Amino acid sequence: MSSLESPRTGHAHTSHSHAPLSLEVPLRHDWSLTEVRALYDLPLLELVYRAQTVHRQVWKENKVQLCSLLSIKTGGCPEDCGYCPQAARYKTGVAAEKLMAVPEVLAAARQAREAGATRFCMGAAWREVKDGPQFDSVLEMVKGVKSLGMEACCTLGMLSDAQAQKLKAAGLDAYNHNLDTSEQHYGDIISTRTYDDRLKTLARVRNAGISVCCGGIIGLGESVDDRCGLLVALANQEHHPESVPVNALVPVEGTPLAKNARVESIDLIRTIACARILMPASMVRLSAGREQMNEEAQLLCMMAGANSVFFGEKLLTTGNPEHEKDLALFAKAGVAPLEPNVDVPVVAKQ
Ligand code: SF4
Repeated sequence: MSSLESPRTGHAHTSHSHAPLSLEVPLRHDWSLTEVRALYDLPLLELVYRAQTVHRQVWKENKVQLCSLLSIKTGGCPEDCGYCPQAARYKTGVAAEKLMAVPEVLAAARQAREAGATRFCMGAAWREVKDGPQFDSVLEMVKGVKSLGMEACCTLGMLSDAQAQKLKAAGLDAYNHNLDTSEQHYGDIISTRTYDDRLKTLARVRNAGISVCCGGIIGLGESVDDRCGLLVALANQEHHPESVPVNALVPVEGTPLAKNARVESIDLIRTIACARILMPASMVRLSAGREQMNEEAQLLCMMAGANSVFFGEKLLTTGNPEHEKDLALFAKAGVAPLEPNVDVPVVAKQ
């Protein structure tokens, strides 16, 4: 049973601030590949209609959360994820940098909050968390982001039970660790850690009481069955991830997947719609690849159940042309952003 379910009803239920309000939609954890493939292959508008129907039953306020992602430690990663420009082994022009200082990170979080973000995700290009001064700095960053009244999320690679507990004690809301693709396709993309390693990290996060952010990437050369297999792997976990980022590969020169074909928007919309139907109470996040989509395709993703968008690496400064474009789209379409938490006082600039 998912943590979002009432023990009595097995229906969507949570006290989280962005909680779906309805208790009407049952959560299932027994999806078959055949069932999901049949959904994926529906005529697009039928699929979007079904996804929107589920979405409105659960997410009655129909708001979209703005999230900001900051790379707090860029490049030099020892892993070999075939899509990633931060892997040290690929010649992508991404230099290995040191971990950012705590005040720098908090200044970025503050800017993001001023521009309307309510969730701040900090990513480090590490294989795993190592105890020591760097991890201690990350704990300070988490505390600082929380003091700004934002949701704090980290993605730091694999971690131990004790490290997960320390992150929880610092106030971390969510930990991102993606499954990336289906178990069958996984070995073609990554060899330096296994699918099982990923599931173990997710279990540690869950056991520490941190909410799970787990999704994947489409456009990795996977088949449609692999895409559906990823969705099955996510939805059939004992607890649905509270947050499901759906990314489209942005091919980067120097990585093994540099020549992969661009993902068609319609494929991304289908994947989001299936994620919404399979995991009704999860936040489905339209993540990497959004920049390549036109406005209408982005709106169709929201119609299909995406209720969060990522602003990638760019800072959400007002005056940032891309951010202004995003806000203009929201205004034109009447999409309501989820309000920042206004109860928390603004802390002095550092
Ligand atoms: S672990 Fe993360 S940073 Fe490292 S190569 Fe894989 S995706 Fe990139």
